[in-house]
Amino acid sequence: MTASNQLRWIIGSVLLLLVFLAHFIIRDDYLKDQASKQTERIEVYRTALNATLSRHDYLPVVLSQNDALFDMAYNDPNTASKTLESIRSASQADFVFILRPDGMTIASSNWQDAKNSFVGNNYGFRPYFTQARQQGNGTFFGIGATTSIPGYFVSSRYPDSGPVKAVTVVKVNSSSLDKNWNSGDEDVFVSDKNGVIVLSSNTDWRYKTLAMLSDAQRLEIKEQQQFGKESLPLLERNYDSHNSSLVTIQGTRYLETTADMGKMDWKMHYLAPYSVVRDQLVSFWSKAIILGLIGLAALLLIRMINARNALLDSQGESTKLRELNQSLEHEIIERKQVESALRKAEIDLRRTSKLTAMGQLSASITHELGQPLAAMRTYIASMRQSNASQLQDKTLDKLTALVERMISITQQLRYFARSGDKEVRRIDLLDIIDGALNITQPAIQENEVTLELKHPKQPVYVIAGSVRMEQVLVNLIRNALDAMRDNTEGSPRRLLILLEENEYHAVLTVEDSGTGLSEEAITLLYEPFYSTKPSGVGMGLGLAISANIIAEIEGNIRAENKPEGGARFIVTLNRQKSA
Ligand code: ADP
Repeated sequence: MTASNQLRWIIGSVLLLLVFLAHFIIRDDYLKDQASKQTERIEVYRTALNATLSRHDYLPVVLSQNDALFDMAYNDPNTASKTLESIRSASQADFVFILRPDGMTIASSNWQDAKNSFVGNNYGFRPYFTQARQQGNGTFFGIGATTSIPGYFVSSRYPDSGPVKAVTVVKVNSSSLDKNWNSGDEDVFVSDKNGVIVLSSNTDWRYKTLAMLSDAQRLEIKEQQQFGKESLPLLERNYDSHNSSLVTIQGTRYLETTADMGKMDWKMHYLAPYSVVRDQLVSFWSKAIILGLIGLAALLLIRMINARNALLDSQGESTKLRELNQSLEHEIIERKQVESALRKAEIDLRRTSKLTAMGQLSASITHELGQPLAAMRTYIASMRQSNASQLQDKTLDKLTALVERMISITQQLRYFARSGDKEVRRIDLLDIIDGALNITQPAIQENEVTLELKHPKQPVYVIAGSVRMEQVLVNLIRNALDAMRDNTEGSPRRLLILLEENEYHAVLTVEDSGTGLSEEAITLLYEPFYSTKPSGVGMGLGLAISANIIAEIEGNIRAENKPEGGARFIVTLNRQKSA
């Protein structure tokens, strides 16, 4: 069983338990309600019965005051009986009769009833007689020994005091006592001191007993002829074990209320069928179930609506997600396409720029070397034709100069030829300056340039390739010489080579007093093949190569114009402290 199932079980059981509890609480409530209604009803019955029973209590007492009536009963019984007949009629009693002290009837209102007349009958065995003789008054309920009509007897002795001369009895038929009881669902009965039902709305229960009669009780009843030939069987009753007011009689369940009559130890029983309460309970639970079902339906509806909304929401969200995903995928594809296009463009660009560079380079080389080679061919041809050794010498000098130029051009191209050789080591910049000056010294002198050299006394170390560093410096010196070539007499040709060092850097400066840098030159200085020089003098590779070399050893090269005229190139390198 899963946890959620277990929870459902627990909730279900608790709910069931609550319903049971509610049922019993409500039932108890209805029972109490019904019981209090019954108490009211039984009081109505009790009062009415008491009133009916007492209605004739006065009669025997009043009659006992009438001496003349008793004289008449002894001396002229028929006239006395007649009188009793009219008294009965006036009082609405059923029988009025007078007994002698031995119990023999001497006068009776029914004296003319040939079959049932009480006159001449002895009722000495009846308790109403004995009670009246002994206590003055008596009451009794029993089935008529003569008439077989059940009734209530009330008696009184005559006279009040002294020896008993007679007993007056009035009888009221029981049918007039319980005749109005049979109404609706309710049942009412009265049991006497022995538990015999004497009055009952249900005739079937009459003369049944609520408890087994003892032998003594049966004997007494027999002697008093109280219930004639009635066998007085037990009325089967079963009381609810939990609620003593719930009783089942002959298959029907009743709610019983009892009250003492206050007369002759009588007890009144009021019974309403339990179905009254059951109907109320059924009606309550029907309403509760209907309400519950409505609530459940509402709950289900709400849940359904919620679930539908959630579904719609999630559908909306998943649609959004799907759209987002699609657009992302789209973007990725586009991105990949752009990337591949870019890569292709880059490859193309590289290929074309390589080709362009090669084209430019080969055009420059062809151009630079083509001119001196053509000149050389002319000189050699003219040498073949002339025999003059003087002329030959001159031509050889020119040829030598052309070869020199070609060497210098090819020297520029060394960088490319040795591009694989990038070996660096610790070098002294003073050595580099020496080397560069060795190469450029003839040109410096030839151009009548004043050289100023400033440097520290101790070596200044950097990590670099010595041939390459020398090439940089040679380039800078040559450029400076070129820039000063056109200087007129007023502007002396001055070249300054300055080496300085601080804690971290070695700074090499080359200054001239030449033309200075044009604005265009400052931006294009390090572009390959940028040159302002006439063909045969510059290929526009010097600074491009130099900047590359400096960048390779993480140095920096910059150019500026001096305020007083001329250009200044400053190379800054990481200084290697002497060990
Ligand atoms: P090239 O010397 O072959 O022309 P460079 O790359 O060395 O090539 O120089 C490029 C250009 O920079 C030169 O043509 C020149 O116009 C300018 N330039 C370089 N150095 C100087 C300088 N010291 N003074 C003035 N212009 C210079």
